Amino acid sequence: MNSLLHVYNSLSGKKEVFKSILPEKVGMYVCGPTVYSNVHLGNCRTFISFDLIYRYLTHLGYKVRYVRNITDVGHLENDSDEGEDRISKRARLESIEPMEIVQRYTLDFRKIMHLFNTLPPSIEPTASGHILEQIEIIKELIKNNYAYEINGSVYFDVKRFNKDLTYGKLSGRNIEELVHNSRLLDGQSDKKNPQDFALWKKAEPIHIMRWPSPWSDGFPGWHLECTAMSRKYLGTKFDIHGGGMDLKFPHHECEIAQAEGINKESPVNYWLHANMLTLNGKKMAKSTGNNILPEEIFNGKNTFFKKEFSPMVIKFFMLQAHYRSVVDLSEEALEASEKGYIRLLSAIEAIEKLSPSASTTDFDVISWREKCYSSMNDDFNSPLLIGHLFDAVKFINSVVNKQKSITSSDLVILKKSLHDFIYNVLGFRLSKPSKNDPKFEKNKELLNLLLEIRNKARAKKDFEISDFIRESLSKLNVELNDTENGTNYEIK
Ligand code: AMP
Ligand code: ZN
Repeated sequence: MNSLLHVYNSLSGKKEVFKSILPEKVGMYVCGPTVYSNVHLGNCRTFISFDLIYRYLTHLGYKVRYVRNITDVGHLENDSDEGEDRISKRARLESIEPMEIVQRYTLDFRKIMHLFNTLPPSIEPTASGHILEQIEIIKELIKNNYAYEINGSVYFDVKRFNKDLTYGKLSGRNIEELVHNSRLLDGQSDKKNPQDFALWKKAEPIHIMRWPSPWSDGFPGWHLECTAMSRKYLGTKFDIHGGGMDLKFPHHECEIAQAEGINKESPVNYWLHANMLTLNGKKMAKSTGNNILPEEIFNGKNTFFKKEFSPMVIKFFMLQAHYRSVVDLSEEALEASEKGYIRLLSAIEAIEKLSPSASTTDFDVISWREKCYSSMNDDFNSPLLIGHLFDAVKFINSVVNKQKSITSSDLVILKKSLHDFIYNVLGFRLSKPSKNDPKFEKNKELLNLLLEIRNKARAKKDFEISDFIRESLSKLNVELNDTENGTNYEIK
């Protein structure tokens, strides 16, 4: 490898050389989903971005402990300190237990992440499983005078904290101007100052999820879980903290304040933020209805696009943009990505059949490989990497056409590097139908049925129908072969 890994640190606003706290080990915490409904494609983009980062660090040889939580309590409506818990509300509307909601959408989330071929995190802790740890942090913050109790709820005292340390350094907000979640709702008058945020909330009768604490029967504030779980599994200082750009403020700012309030030092060396997926130019979000579910795009049953797109094509589309850029989802862009992805996979297939030449390679494989690493070392620049992969695709195709040649030793390096980058780093998997897939069996049956109909038409000399079937199948890349022993087909 020819260059050091650089990452863009949201805290400094600069690209910095990445140096882990412990040699060869990385601790990475990523804020996970709030499991009150199906993940939308925007959420998936953030998790795919951090999967790329996890995969690349692992590929570089780091032993990564990747912690991604499940938020199953404490995330209130409008990301505020008042209102109903998102999960409780859903449970109330459906007349089921909150944990049934949690179970349903955690399973959905894992299934979708699996379809996108993302790797599971090393630890996937839940907020409700770490109430004791959260209570301990609140006690410490009260002891350090950074938190106060009022009517059974506990709030973080932002002004008091700001006398000793700095609040707002991640999002660049000035405490004097800051009015946290500016809407002053009922009960927020409990707070000394509007920018204070909840660490513990006394449960109103409507709240189903509640735990005993020294202050009241209640539940933790949303920001606290990540401080508690990152500290428990990664320690008081760890390497990387990630999440979507929209979590920078207030969520991550509050996390920093909570951690500094107990340890007096910054908890994280590198803050990484993934940018948003937009649809029709607007942020994809559950609350506005401007969103599309992954399954709706996989099966084509949606109002936005005319055709379906596979998980790998969507992932390819996302990785063709840098994780810190906004990406807008459109049919044209997805179609272009589909073509590109097929071209990439075809070259991977073609390379298996290449015959090497004895003497020369018309492609500098070593410097090409270095360029691939340099692009990933430049803050995980996957679009640049994909560009380099296409240089290799072009070369492979010209070897197939006998215009260029490659020696067997270079072929080994090229093959290995392509596999590393395509499968291990970018995390693609061949999306040909598996023989065990029930859909594959069903398609086979449907195809045989079409052949039978065609045979019947031919027997009646209805060549209009039989030709129509042959031509239509050919358009779908299924070629029919009429032989003495009957008709067989080949899927191209
Ligand atoms: P939530 O389930 O709302 O807590 O969100 C889970 C993750 O998805 C967070 O890291 C969000 O920042 C991220 N996220 C939400 N909307 C989008 C979007 N439109 N594009 C990319 N990431 C998003
Ligand atoms: Zn978090």
